[in-house]
Order: sequence, then structure tokens, then C-alpha cells
Amino acid sequence: MSALIIDGKAAAEEIKSEVKSKVIEVVRAGSPPPGLATVLVGDDPASLSYVSAKHRACEKLGITSFSHTLPDDSSQDEIENLIEKLANDPLVHGILVQLPLPDGLDEEKILNAIPLEKDVDGFHPLNIGRLAQKGREPLFTPCTPTGIIYLLRKVLGSLEGKDAVVLGRSNIVGMPVSLLLLRENATVTICHSRTRNLPEIIKNADILVAAIGKPEFVQGGWIKPRAVVIDVGVNRVDDPSKKKGYRLVGDVAFEEALSSASAITPVPGGVGPLTIAMLMKNTLISAQRAAK
Ligand code: NAP
Repeated sequence: MSALIIDGKAAAEEIKSEVKSKVIEVVRAGSPPPGLATVLVGDDPASLSYVSAKHRACEKLGITSFSHTLPDDSSQDEIENLIEKLANDPLVHGILVQLPLPDGLDEEKILNAIPLEKDVDGFHPLNIGRLAQKGREPLFTPCTPTGIIYLLRKVLGSLEGKDAVVLGRSNIVGMPVSLLLLRENATVTICHSRTRNLPEIIKNADILVAAIGKPEFVQGGWIKPRAVVIDVGVNRVDDPSKKKGYRLVGDVAFEEALSSASAITPVPGGVGPLTIAMLMKNTLISAQRAAK
């Protein structure tokens, strides 16, 4: 039997439509609309396109967006001063610093300058620290990992007691998704570039989250029958048959995995759309908290 292909676009639309109606409620109650400020340092084309996608999403949902672009030779102080200004602006409920920052800047210090209650990206060291501690609640959780949990819950309901294997331990995906899976009471194994016997470990996974950035690395034969596979990887591979000369693939050999998994996210159209939807949701939550 072929696996269910998890429709990330449809899931993201559900979340965004709920956000849109709640934004209307916030404004009807007399509060300012949720506001998201983005800070982009430099002119990296990928970062530019991610930031403009976030602004387009804001516009569709009635969220005000404020765009700040700084030259790539900006100093640490200039960036921190801008963040301080945004921190004090009552119309800004969320501050997002587009990562990665140009070399030479202290990323941790810049993320630390964002007030916890405006940390809609969920990467403030205190929010991450709280995520890692039992009985502590982060104000926000990172968007891509939160989207992954949303999809898993949609497919599986409860994740309790499931054996989950996470490939990758990055600050952005692997580590926070592992912490969120633990909070869901899954039993979590985190793998990385030094892990030995990867196929053997993956064969035990009821849930496999692949976030390593290696095209079609995970073979179909490694996947436990009926496992749910979340493929986070976005990799370009040459494809002369495409107009752009390349196509996007995930970290899992998708066609092979279809015959063993019970459900799998495609690339593109799987996890990707959830990231912006969760950012919109976090910005709404921040505005609702400010209104109280
Ligand atoms: P990253 O910072 O480069 O981290 C990659 C992780 O994979 C590292 O922990 C690395 O281990 C591990 N790894 C590398 N090769 C491995 C191997 N052969 N076996 C096992 N583990 C290996 O990447 P990232 O930022 O987490 O992103 C991962 C992928 O997700 C990328 O393709 C990225 O484009 C994609 N992504 C998608 C979204 C989205 O769809 N919204 C968002 C973010 C990222 P070490 O720690 O030992 O080096």
C-alpha cells in the first residue's frame, strides 16, 4: 500500500484561516492589529525571498508588517539599537531577525536583545532554555518544529510512547523538534553526522524526522513499515528537464519511502508552508497577550 502524502499546504491554509478570523476579533475589540517587524541584514537572495514571503502572508491575514533592511556591513550596535526601538514600539508584537546573519555579528547577543514577549521566532535563549526544562513554559516555540508537531498530531493523534528518531541536531530544526517530541511524551533518539549504524536506528522509528540537508539520503529500505516520515530537508538537485535547471528534493528518497511509510511529507509542499503559518500564529498570540 502506498503511503498517505501529507498535504502541508492545506494544513497551513487551515492555520492561516483561523489566524485571519482571530485577527478580525482583535481589531473589533479595539486593539491594534497584530504587527510583525522583520530585520534583514544584507542582501542574500534566499533570505530576501523568505522575508518577502512573510510580508505577503501578513498582508493576506490583516497583520501589519514592518520591514527593516540593513546593509551587510552594519555594526552590532546598529542592529541592537534597531531591535531596542522595535522592542519599545507598541504596534510591533513580533520581531524576527532573519538568520543567518552576516559573518562577524554576534547572533546570540542579537537574539537576546529581542524581548521574550516579542520573540515570535522562538529562538531567544530563554525561550529555548524553557523548552528544554520540565515544568517551564516557553512563551513561543520555533515555527518549523512547531509545524512538524502539528502535522504529526494531525496524522497520529497522540505521539505518546512512540519511538521517534530525529536526524539532525541544529538549533533551528533538529534540537527544538526533539525537545517538542519529548514534551509530547515520545521516546526520542537524536542522530547527527557522527552517529553510527544510522540505518539500524532508523529501522526502529515509528516517527522519523529528517533534517540534515542531504538529498535523498534516507533510503526506503531503512524505514520501519508503517512509520510516519517528516522530511524537512530542502535540497536542489540538477535537472536539465526543468526550466530552472534544478528541482527540489528532501532528505528522504521519496518514491522508495512511499512503499514502507504509512504517511510522508513531500518536498516541496510538506513542512515548508507550515513555517510561515506558525509565525503568523505566534504573532497573533503575542498581540492577544498584549491586548490583555
Ligand atoms: P544544519 O544546520 O546544516 O544541520 C544539519 C544537521 O544534520 C547537523 O546536526 C548535522 O550533524 C546533521 N547531519 C549532516 N549530515 C549528516 C549525516 N550524513 N548523517 C546524520 N546527520 C547528519 O541544517 P538545518 O538548518 O537544520 O536544516 C536541515 C535541512 O532542513 C536543510 O535542507 C534545510 O534547507 C531544511 N529546512 C527546511 C525548513 C522548512 O521547510 N521550513 C526550515 C529549516 C530548514 P552535526 O551536528 O554532527 O554536524
